[in-house]
Amino acid sequence: MYRIGIDLGGTNIAVGVVDTRYRIISRCSVPTLAHRSADEVIADMGSAAETALQQAGLSIADCDSIGIGAPGTCDSARGVVVRAYNLNWFDVPVCRLLGKRFGIPVQLSNDANCAALGETLAGAAAGYRNMVLITLGTGVGGGIIIDGKIYAGMRSAGAELGHTLLVLDGEPCTCGRQGCWEAYASATALCRQALAAAKKDPSSALSRLRAQTITAKDVFDVADRGDSAACAVVDRYCAYVAAGLTNLVNALAPELILLGGGICRQGERILAPIREYVATHCFGQRQGAIPVIAAAQLGNDAGIIGAAALKAVF
Ligand SMILES: [Zn+2]
Repeated sequence: MYRIGIDLGGTNIAVGVVDTRYRIISRCSVPTLAHRSADEVIADMGSAAETALQQAGLSIADCDSIGIGAPGTCDSARGVVVRAYNLNWFDVPVCRLLGKRFGIPVQLSNDANCAALGETLAGAAAGYRNMVLITLGTGVGGGIIIDGKIYAGMRSAGAELGHTLLVLDGEPCTCGRQGCWEAYASATALCRQALAAAKKDPSSALSRLRAQTITAKDVFDVADRGDSAACAVVDRYCAYVAAGLTNLVNALAPELILLGGGICRQGERILAPIREYVATHCFGQRQGAIPVIAAAQLGNDAGIIGAAALKAVF
């Protein structure tokens, strides 16, 4: 039997047919076009699933279930996307609507939860029972796996790790609060920090980066060429990431923390200083319960594989 995993993003709908060994044997990706109604987007999710099945020479009769990873707050028990701002979805019963078309069970969880589950089943967290995945992208996403299962809390509203406090009365956050970890540790935040540093030090090569086009990779590239202002920004950024991770270590003592998102492609450039910070700042310092800290492995596939596995886990 096979399972279908759907990673519903603000930009793309990525569908994979996943086998019992958590391998994606066929896939289809279509643009979300999120300005449309939820019904239209859900119809395209179904069509993309059918395309992926056809490519594999399969039909829905070969599948046990469909799993969906969606952004925002997802109530897994009710199968409802409660609130996803980048889709403009509020209380959308996506599992019921997609289930009507295919007649097999449909499960739902938050996209970062699915990615954490995917990495645990088939990626960098294989063999670990307790882990946290942090995605450093436009925002800071979090997925918590406890004893091999997603931990999402009451009404699946938890694991919003990016919206834990780093600085009281700090930078404004997209959620309306000030000083969230996300407002310091996201890729967006890094770009903002770099532009602020460029203003202070116009001789820095950072001042050649433009607000409209700057990416996190640009900031790392300038730092790698030895620009001292850029190096200071990157060092401080790693400390922001690591300070939030230290909070997680003190709260949960996971065996493993994985970093995902585009920034994790910097590899040891960020992992080494982050490990050092956590080891010297967590409770008990070097004698404390220091987790393995590594980069996620599966990229966007983690969300598809984790979504496909939802039925097996719940
Ligand atoms: Zn926030």
